[in-house]
Amino acid sequence: MGEPKQLRELLDVAQLVVSTLDLEEVLQRILQVTRTLVDVPAGSIALYVESDHSMELHATEGLSETFTRRRGWKIEKGCMAQTILGQNGLLVVEDTSKVNFFSNPLAQAEGIRSVIAVPLKVQGQSVGILYLNDFVPRNFSADKLEQLTIISSFASLSIFNARLFKQTRKMAVTDGLTGLYNHGQFKHMLNQELARSDRYGHPLSLIMFDIDNFKSLNDTYGHPCGDQILVQIASALNDVFRGTDQVFRYGGEEFTVLLPEANLNQAAIAAERTRLLIEQMRIDWPDINERLGVTVSAGVATSPQAGTTPENLLNTVDERLYRAKHAGKNCVFSSDNSCLKVSL
Ligand code: GH3
Ligand code: MG
Ligand code: MG
Repeated sequence: MGEPKQLRELLDVAQLVVSTLDLEEVLQRILQVTRTLVDVPAGSIALYVESDHSMELHATEGLSETFTRRRGWKIEKGCMAQTILGQNGLLVVEDTSKVNFFSNPLAQAEGIRSVIAVPLKVQGQSVGILYLNDFVPRNFSADKLEQLTIISSFASLSIFNARLFKQTRKMAVTDGLTGLYNHGQFKHMLNQELARSDRYGHPLSLIMFDIDNFKSLNDTYGHPCGDQILVQIASALNDVFRGTDQVFRYGGEEFTVLLPEANLNQAAIAAERTRLLIEQMRIDWPDINERLGVTVSAGVATSPQAGTTPENLLNTVDERLYRAKHAGKNCVFSSDNSCLKVSL
């Protein structure tokens, strides 16, 4: 260590690792450079998930499908992951058959005979474990292990930053209560989908659901119960609309759904199905003895018939939702003058 050439190599590696904020890319690069450094044919990186004290397998190289199929595992007391995370330095096993703690059947079946396990930490907090594997017993030079330790410290920092970036980005586009995409993301997607619909000449439908009498539900059962209603409706919407359809929390108790390629009739049927499903749903709330139900009203519109700008489409949907409310609520309006009655 300390040779200018080695320092430059380390600097190159550092630059490669820190030059992206894309988490999976960061992990792939770390694995690639460390594998090259100690010259091993296989390896993986598992990230530490603090919320449920588990490990999540991410980047892998040179390992079989059987081995990598196990995407995550709980950290049990006394397991190898716990030992590795609990220490500061590397754990080096030059020959797995000579130690008694290397008993993972999957790793044994894979034929792994030597391991370097690197705890990845930032300021004492675990971010994950880097595993470097060979299928034959190996001797690793002290020099390489020292370089690996240096790389692992800035690798940990890169992972920490990339995770934070991913989390922040997710928070910026989702609603904290329901986990659905938020209003800003809806506006963004609406623009994007309208442009796509225009380009390909395909329809784009929009549904807006609004909970009926939500204010009085809040007043009667309390705000936390109102929140639970929002969460359950969001989850029902997520179950009903899948694939290319996207659900958003548009505002307080309003939800929108974008249905690319669905025509007005198809969207209206989907909205009516959802209305019925919600009508039958019961709210899980401990303080209420009776079975609490809730209903929604909806407006549906389709581009290009209802216009090709976000404003046109939103105005039409809003207008139809207003009509649904005035017609007595708990119904779907997909035209300006009549409540939808579809035989499902
Ligand atoms: P309508 O049947 O005509 O839709 O009447 P409504 O009572 O559902 O509609 P209104 O717009 O009068 O009331 C909406 C209420 O939603 C008022 C607001 O306090 C409540 N709300 C908005 N966001 C939240 C939230 O995040 N949690 C809870 N619990 N309530 C919310
Ligand atoms: Mg409303
Ligand atoms: Mg309402």
